[in-house]
Parts: sequence; C-alpha cells; structure tokens
Amino acid sequence: MNIRAPALFLGHGSPMNVIKENPYRTAWAALSERFQTPKAIVCVSAHWESNGTYVTSGPNPRTIHDFRGFPQELFDIQYNAPGAPALAARVSEITGASSSTEWGLDHGAWGVLRSLFPNADVPVIQFSLDRTKTPAEHYALGKRLSVLRDDGVMILGSGNIVHNLSFFRRTQQQFAWASRFDGAVKEKVRNRDHAALIDYGSLDEESHLAVPTNEHYLPLLYVIAAQDEEESAEIFNDDVLTSISMTSIAFGI
Ligand code: ZN
Repeated sequence: MNIRAPALFLGHGSPMNVIKENPYRTAWAALSERFQTPKAIVCVSAHWESNGTYVTSGPNPRTIHDFRGFPQELFDIQYNAPGAPALAARVSEITGASSSTEWGLDHGAWGVLRSLFPNADVPVIQFSLDRTKTPAEHYALGKRLSVLRDDGVMILGSGNIVHNLSFFRRTQQQFAWASRFDGAVKEKVRNRDHAALIDYGSLDEESHLAVPTNEHYLPLLYVIAAQDEEESAEIFNDDVLTSISMTSIAFGI
C-alpha cells in the first residue's frame, strides 16, 4: 500500500544556505524525519524556466551548478539521485509535458534535497516552469500532478514567496512591502484561498516589488494545488530577510 506523500514548498534563498550553518537548512533536514521516505519526488524549481512544458526523463540526472561567484565548495557538490524515467513518462501523460534529457537537477532542487535526503537515494525528476503559461495554468498543472501523491510521490516546490534581488541588502534592512506580501500569502494559505494566491498581483499594492518576476513564486502554486481538502498547512522557516522570504509550507506531514 502506498502512503500518501507530502507536498512541500521550500524557500531556498541564497545558494550559500546549502553549505553555511543556518536554521533553514536545519529545518529542511528535520522535516524528512517526520514522514515516510517517498518513492520518488517531482520537483518544480524556480531555476528551470522553459518555453513549453518539460519533465526530466533521464535515468541519471546531472547536478547543475547554475550560479556564479560562489565558493568552489558549492561547485564541488554532486547530488547523484537517480532519475525516474517511468514516472517521467506518467507525468508526460497526465500533463502533456515533453521529456528532456538535457536538464538535470538545478540548485533549487539539489540545494534543498541534499538536506532532506542526504543519501541521494530517492529518485527525482524535475518539472519545468513553462514561461508561456499563466499562474492559473501553472496551478492547473499542479492539480494534475497532485494525483501522484497517492502513489507515494512527493511534490516539492522550491522557490521564494518574496524574491527581489535588486533590493537585497547584506544589512538587516527590512522592507515593509516584503513583510506585507509574505504575511498576505501566509494568511491566504491558512485560509485555503487558492484563488487569491493565483491572483498574487492583487494581494498587496506593492506586490510587484515582492514578485518582480514570478519564477520563485510559481512553485508555490504547484504545492497548494496539491493540498487535500482535509489538510491544513504547516508554515515554518517563517522569516523575511530584507527582500527575500524564506517562508516554507508543508502539507501532509
Ligand atoms: Zn533561487
């Protein structure tokens, strides 16, 4: 019998979170102790945008170091989780996604998976963010993927609810618009107001500052789409670091 797998949205923040001691990473690691190891993972990462919808279908996805100007230690990381070609074929069937053997695992995926499953023994596929789709269409794709949870496949969204690098400060400067947007999203998540989360531009008069481009926000829509009727959200890593929110959300743990 399959145990229904969780759906997680993890705020990943800077790639440095992968190697630096920090409470976010500690929470990611603690999370996987709380649910049965899934059979496989479908990851929607902020860092794979495409024209058209794709799913990785290779048996051994490569570790992609898609960042610049970071320490060698980060470039040396390999996360050798297996792919899941049969699952990828099923995902193509239910979503219409084309298969990709070019993409592997980007840092949005392996950066958090390394803490969740350090042995890299759970098969992972990535599902791309199709630039041509509207937020409502992304949500609809998430609904289609949600059935996989019944087969023990975890849905993992990796992004950030608030993500504005041009305002990011190394100082502790806080931005009211960042906290307000993060707060509005949390409230809508708690109230299961999916329509408001899809129409995120209307959540705050300065939503455009919190979400200047939506690739870090959209993975959240896949995760809320996978929420069951009876499931409530567990919100953690509830922190806004200047113009980036680390807020993370779990269903079914
Ligand atoms: Zn990112």
